[in-house]
Amino acid sequence: MRLEGKVAIISGGARGMGAAEARMFAREGAKVMIGDLLEEEGNKVAAEIGEAGGEALFVRLDVTDESSWQSAVEAAVERFGKVDILVNNAAILRVQGLLETTEEIWDEVMDVNAKGTFLGTKSVIAEMRKAGGGSIINISSGAGITGSERNTAYHASKGAVRIFTKAAAIQYAGENIRVNSVHPGPIETDMLASSTSVEGGRRPEDIPLGRYGRPEEVAYGVLYLASDESSFVTGSEVIIDGGRTA
Ligand code: NAD
Repeated sequence: MRLEGKVAIISGGARGMGAAEARMFAREGAKVMIGDLLEEEGNKVAAEIGEAGGEALFVRLDVTDESSWQSAVEAAVERFGKVDILVNNAAILRVQGLLETTEEIWDEVMDVNAKGTFLGTKSVIAEMRKAGGGSIINISSGAGITGSERNTAYHASKGAVRIFTKAAAIQYAGENIRVNSVHPGPIETDMLASSTSVEGGRRPEDIPLGRYGRPEEVAYGVLYLASDESSFVTGSEVIIDGGRTA
């Protein structure tokens, strides 16, 4: 198993891609802590993992709040003894162009997507040092590489996640803490449904492979970065988008 003996925290793991990553990580031998605002859904994913023979714990986490992160990391260490892997996956999407983006929308999106990633990374460094290293995977987006007429604040937040990843990677490479970003294209989740329900959203025919992706297709890439198979990969960006940004 590719994550045997590892402990992973996945933010936003109650549904969508985060839940797919939690299930896959547990199948590969990791002990998984799911942190999310959605308690019912998060507990359900953790219970399903347990029924399938894996180990998982749900903790209520608000990624915009540093004390919430500290409690979540403490809970993971108390239950599983250490932290080896963090997936900063939680995010929100707001589908406004520049002039429609209010200051409130900008702050809300930057808070969850950019600040949440910063706070999550900051909160696991001490534990990863104790563990002798670690792997942090920041879920950015194709929207962190290219722009569009929509989602102005989302583009800015995902671009911030991309470069934050490289800055953290350089800073912690000497301590064997690797930091990489993943850039999904349109993937079939609730978030995509909220985007495609508004006119102008990406259609399957806009994507070279001719379809939306599935959460598992991103989870395989995240698994690679989480595992020791990617031991020489840091500050890198893995694009999983059916060719959309090609
Ligand atoms: P989703 O909306 O299905 O899941 C996001 C999860 O994050 C939810 O469970 C939500 O409750 C949680 N969350 C939101 N705010 C939070 C907060 N403050 N604290 C804790 N948890 C919070 O989305 P998804 O499609 O699974 O997206 C996962 C990641 O992939 C996100 O970073 C998203 O930006 C990125 N992404 C998605 C797509 C896509 O097409 N679905 C494309 C590119 C990138």
